[in-house]
Amino acid sequence: MADLSGKRAIVTGGSRGIGAAIAKRLAADGADVVITYAGNHDAAQQVAAAITGAGRRTEAIQADAADVAAVEAAVVRAVDTLGGLDILVHNAGVFGLGTIDSDTIENYRRQFGVNVDGVFAGTRAAIGHMTDGGRILVIGSVNAHTVPVPGAAVYSATKAAVAGMVRGWARDLGPRNILVNAIQPGPIDTDMNPADGDFAAMLAQHVALGRYGRAEEVAALAAFLASDEASYITGTTIDIDGGFSV
Ligand code: NDP
Repeated sequence: MADLSGKRAIVTGGSRGIGAAIAKRLAADGADVVITYAGNHDAAQQVAAAITGAGRRTEAIQADAADVAAVEAAVVRAVDTLGGLDILVHNAGVFGLGTIDSDTIENYRRQFGVNVDGVFAGTRAAIGHMTDGGRILVIGSVNAHTVPVPGAAVYSATKAAVAGMVRGWARDLGPRNILVNAIQPGPIDTDMNPADGDFAAMLAQHVALGRYGRAEEVAALAAFLASDEASYITGTTIDIDGGFSV
């Protein structure tokens, strides 16, 4: 367990999948955690109940990551609930399949809106509230540097974009000792990428460990990077992919 006692965190897209696992793990390690979500109210309330059950403060805020005004309002409300901010985890993300001969500008804009605009707007809104020594984590993807199937160009480009911003923000925020890193998962069993079916079986064949990862395995890395133990790690992109991209 990481010691996150007294820390105050926001996890975007915390209602399901990797974000829910991160929110629950940070709370189990002692942090108060506000989550955002897109539209799945019931799932968000379940995660909030788990955080409350761990004895931590929480709130679930509906906020579309592609809507800059909604993102900014969510940060202000979360900071009010938490009484400050130490950890920001950008996890909300969408994947839209489309090869270049069939893809649409709407699919392109939607993915860049959620996966990139949301990260930029959320960070900009948060840094004025964040304590020096805080942490910013972005859930990117190994698709930032690996495109294993056709139709993932735009998604991959969004994840490469946030990896670039992470490196830049590490420079921008280093003087405040705010550490900024990207976690780049490979195939993780969630609603976005379920571990059953033919596609999953094909993908799993390319994982050195021969299996999909679990959201909790990603959450363990997030907890470490949010902790004092990770005090000299910034500006980096860490693959957590069971050897998928080696
Ligand atoms: P899921 O689809 O299982 O969950 C997505 C979460 O993000 C939900 O909480 C959802 O909220 C929220 N969300 C989606 N769109 C928005 C939006 N516009 N605004 C706010 N919240 C939103 O995805 P995963 O858990 O699999 O993915 C989480 C992150 O990890 C994403 O950034 C993804 O790109 C990345 N990733 C995932 C991999 C995988 O194999 N699963 C691999 C590599 C990276 P709601 O419940 O309300 O819909």
